Amino acid sequence: MPKVYLVGAGPGAPDLLTLRAARLLEAADIVFYDALVHPDTLALAVKAKKVAVGKRCGQISTDQRFINRNLVEAATKYETVVRLKGGDPMVFGRAQEEIDALRAAGILFEVVPGITAALAASAQLGISLTRRGVARTVTLATPRIGADETSSDWAGSVVNADSAVLYMASGQAQAIAAALIAGGKPAATPVAIVESATLPEERRHFSTLQSLSLGDLPSFAGGPAVLCVGEVFRAAAVLDSADHEDHMRQNTMARCQAV
Ligand code: SAH
Repeated sequence: MPKVYLVGAGPGAPDLLTLRAARLLEAADIVFYDALVHPDTLALAVKAKKVAVGKRCGQISTDQRFINRNLVEAATKYETVVRLKGGDPMVFGRAQEEIDALRAAGILFEVVPGITAALAASAQLGISLTRRGVARTVTLATPRIGADETSSDWAGSVVNADSAVLYMASGQAQAIAAALIAGGKPAATPVAIVESATLPEERRHFSTLQSLSLGDLPSFAGGPAVLCVGEVFRAAAVLDSADHEDHMRQNTMARCQAV
């Protein structure tokens, strides 16, 4: 029986892939992959035909209905079909549309989880989103609304969460910060923006909602980024500058020794 696997590729670093995902890639006959998937991850699919369907490829979003149709069609021709998505397929990954299409066509499917960007950023910062005594609730949100979707009160749920991680948001960070303050989030709430988490080009920017709303924006390279909001991230800034000082000290020591 042919089967379609919706597989999470993790946040970026290829070795953050699950073993199950790696084995499926090796066995795959065809792989439909997103733009954020690392080339080394894709390379694990040694014998598969590889089809790019991510919207960052060529900048034009591949129509979701087109992807759905392709998956269903591929299942009639190939034994092992992999749909490889960045992070976790079930988190802002349009997995449900694909699952619904596969179910409707009577095609077997299985979902293989991956590490989602929020958890990758938390790990990289060394900050628990549920730090005891500070945060008991976590919200994953996006301000992005598709043409066919009705708006929801995303800002309200971010305001009410102890820790929030916003996806597909970094381009509108300033407006988002202003909206959260207007919605009642304290202006002094710490913010961490993490770009390309777990990749060598990872960058971090620490701020507060107040400063962000006034234009304290990172000068990032345009990679994917999450906007993290909440008291727990206050520690991230402290930690990061401590790391930085450590690094500077080591550099100074190295220079002194060299002299
Ligand atoms: N399914 C993915 C999310 C897809 S939506 C997941 O579970 O992570 C795409 C958004 O994910 C980007 O706009 C960005 O907000 C976030 N993202 C993906 N990879 C990231 C990374 N390495 N670092 C920071 N944010 C990332």
